[in-house]
Amino acid sequence: MRRNGPTTRPGRPGSGGSSGCGRSRRFDVLVAGAGPAGCAAALPLVRAGASVVLVSPRTSPDWRVGESLAPTARPLLERLGALDGLADDGHAPCYGNQAAWGQDALTAVDHGLGPYGEGWHLDRTRFDAALLEATRAGGALWHAGHVRDARRHRSRWQITTGEGDVLEASHLVDATGRAARLARRVGAGRTRSDRLIAVAALLGPPKQAARPDRTSLVQATRWGWWYTAPLPGGERVLMAMTDADLLPGVRLLDPDVWWAQAQCAGHIRERIAGREQPPRRLRVFAAGSACATPAAGPGWVAVGDAATATDPLAARGIVTALATGLVGARAILAAEGGDTDAMAAYARRMTAVHAEYLEARAAQYRREQRWDTPFWDRRH
Ligand SMILES: Cc1cc2nc3c(=O)[nH]c(=O)nc-3n(C[C@H](O)[C@H](O)[C@H](O)COP(=O)(O)OP(=O)(O)OC[C@H]3O[C@@H](n4cnc5c(N)ncnc54)[C@H](O)[C@@H]3O)c2cc1C
Repeated sequence: MRRNGPTTRPGRPGSGGSSGCGRSRRFDVLVAGAGPAGCAAALPLVRAGASVVLVSPRTSPDWRVGESLAPTARPLLERLGALDGLADDGHAPCYGNQAAWGQDALTAVDHGLGPYGEGWHLDRTRFDAALLEATRAGGALWHAGHVRDARRHRSRWQITTGEGDVLEASHLVDATGRAARLARRVGAGRTRSDRLIAVAALLGPPKQAARPDRTSLVQATRWGWWYTAPLPGGERVLMAMTDADLLPGVRLLDPDVWWAQAQCAGHIRERIAGREQPPRRLRVFAAGSACATPAAGPGWVAVGDAATATDPLAARGIVTALATGLVGARAILAAEGGDTDAMAAYARRMTAVHAEYLEARAAQYRREQRWDTPFWDRRH
């Protein structure tokens, strides 16, 4: 790995659109996916002098889920040099979380009482775009495309994209999210613990101005649980979480049924009061717990959701993505420096992190004992 700065042409910050890859298509590291995990992995690598290309689609969806950023993100964003930018980017503060879980009454976690202070309700699309911009400004190249395949020839990877480009790199970082596209291409398995899904909608601002609410809320129900949080622009995200196979029984894909169910959950009803229309469109997102087995091998690491995808109840997906991105980058640098156990050690660490998470998740679901329904039975 070259230590004296990238030898390929860096993408210009603020140039928008695709940067192409310059003339050279050989890199030290190719990072597939430019979400929080991909950017957190790329930045320390370019700072260490590696030539890094980030490959991700040119367009991003009009709405990305994952908008509550826990306060524990603060030190990670600081290490990435992205904390100050966040303050000026129009995100709203998140003062804490409330939950009706195991009982009707609400309990609260107040971020102000924790060591890191408040968190954020993000404009997620803007957050991801700002991280990518910071990563490009740091010296990483961005190549618009979908990674489709990766094959190893001697000690180098040849990566093909769905758009027909061929790139070469010594190391691969799979940051493609739950799809874990690269890890699966290079032979890793995927261990799934459940088939949780989110049936979600964005609700427009209330008809009458109301005092802004700055907390997220979870409320358990017979068939799963509701989650709602305000967004910076006055909109609100509302999601029903259940298992994929239970959906037909609850008929949650019907916007009228979904809305009627939301009205039956008292705390949720209060938060969405004044937004009286059932949404016209519901969207379904996979939200189950899963991990890559293993999360690394010779010349590659999986980071973020590709390594360990967590239940939104844990509210730690973005923080884990940032943390595993940083740790994955460190493993690559250690391997380059001659540590022959670095990749295996990273994989063992991810196995332990995911196992610990699964224990915490089980304990959290055991706290809700009011219903003897399939959703809860299979979690007890
Ligand atoms: C319903 C739901 C609600 C959630 N709410 C929260 C929350 O409130 N707070 C929280 O912290 N977390 C939340 N999460 C989790 C959080 O969104 C994820 O953990 C986080 O986005 C993971 O980051 P990542 O970078 O690993 O992956 P992603 O953010 O998924 O990024 C993956 C990137 O890879 C790109 N990509 C995919 N395939 C390819 C390919 N073949 N080639 C190139 N690029 C590719 C994608 O376009 C994307 O840019 C939620 C998740 C769900 C499902």
